[in-house]
Amino acid sequence: MAWQRVHGRHGLPWQGTRDPYRVWLSEVMLQQTQVTTVLRYYGRFLARFPDVQTLAAASLDEVLALWSGLGYYSRARHLHACAQAVVARHGGRFPESAQVLATLPGIGDSTAAAIAAFCFGERRSILDGNVRRVLARWLALDDDLSRPAAQRALWATAQSLIPDDATADAMAAYTQGLMDLGATVCTRTRPRCDACPVAAGCGARAAGAPTAWPRRGRTAPRRTIAWCLPLYVRDDGAWWLQRRPARGIWAGLWAPPVLEDETPLRAWSADAPGRSAQWMAAFTHALTHRDLRLQPVLCRLPLSAADAAAGTAPQAPGVVADQGAWWSPAEALALGLPAPVRSWLQALVSDDAASSSR
Ligand code: SF4
Repeated sequence: MAWQRVHGRHGLPWQGTRDPYRVWLSEVMLQQTQVTTVLRYYGRFLARFPDVQTLAAASLDEVLALWSGLGYYSRARHLHACAQAVVARHGGRFPESAQVLATLPGIGDSTAAAIAAFCFGERRSILDGNVRRVLARWLALDDDLSRPAAQRALWATAQSLIPDDATADAMAAYTQGLMDLGATVCTRTRPRCDACPVAAGCGARAAGAPTAWPRRGRTAPRRTIAWCLPLYVRDDGAWWLQRRPARGIWAGLWAPPVLEDETPLRAWSADAPGRSAQWMAAFTHALTHRDLRLQPVLCRLPLSAADAAAGTAPQAPGVVADQGAWWSPAEALALGLPAPVRSWLQALVSDDAASSSR
């Protein structure tokens, strides 16, 4: 705690508040995401959704659109569901205990502990990925932390390590201290043991090999998934986008249809006059455990005025009529889109603007 007060981080926009809404939002955004990235989203999100009631009343699409680019979109869906649960079940006030907080959608034990410690002074230890690494090193723990039993044991240890003088008022400094230690000193690849306030008792340092901890279980080999993304473009410039299924990659977001096999698309474009399919430069987008090899294809198709007025779905590979709709480019860019799809669509709009101004 003393180290945190002098050497820890103090200027982040979600610090110095006991408002559980703000703390919760920052904790969710920071899961598996760098502080520098979250800084670009946090203020914008708060400006649009200043409190839990506003967030609960918003549409999921608007929440996803503001989240676009932060990744791990299930967090945004849980965030929205959690806001609605806080309003419906708790009268718009966040519960004050970690145990009850952890019953809300998307709030795991560590996030619940962080909110309870920061906002309500509960003596509850966090145990996010950074803290797990610090403790595994400090304890020179040889257990495989992917095992649930090892995780339970580490939770109990983390809880038992809370110092006696971490009173309700001091729990924020203790919790922030753990976070800062993991983020700025005991980092994943270059721990700075010489600057570490707990170096004296550290088992990994004593063993002379801090980065040998945490011990790793077997990791699955990285896979690459190849997807072809046909963007169907109507005569009037409208784009056909479909909502992705509620589970899996890009769950709940809007995207062109996804094809795992390009053959039907090649046959479709060769099949009728007026249709065209332009294969654009493919690119790779990294997910946590997989790489997505994306092949964008710009598909133009003529559509009668009557069909356009009725919003008829195109008869084309990958199209599921009741999962999609036609959108003008401006409307589409306001939807919740996966980051690589957004970049591609934005580039199309910029190219169009550039060619029409020539
Ligand atoms: S002494 Fe080194 S390995 Fe141990 S907790 Fe501190 S930074 Fe991490």
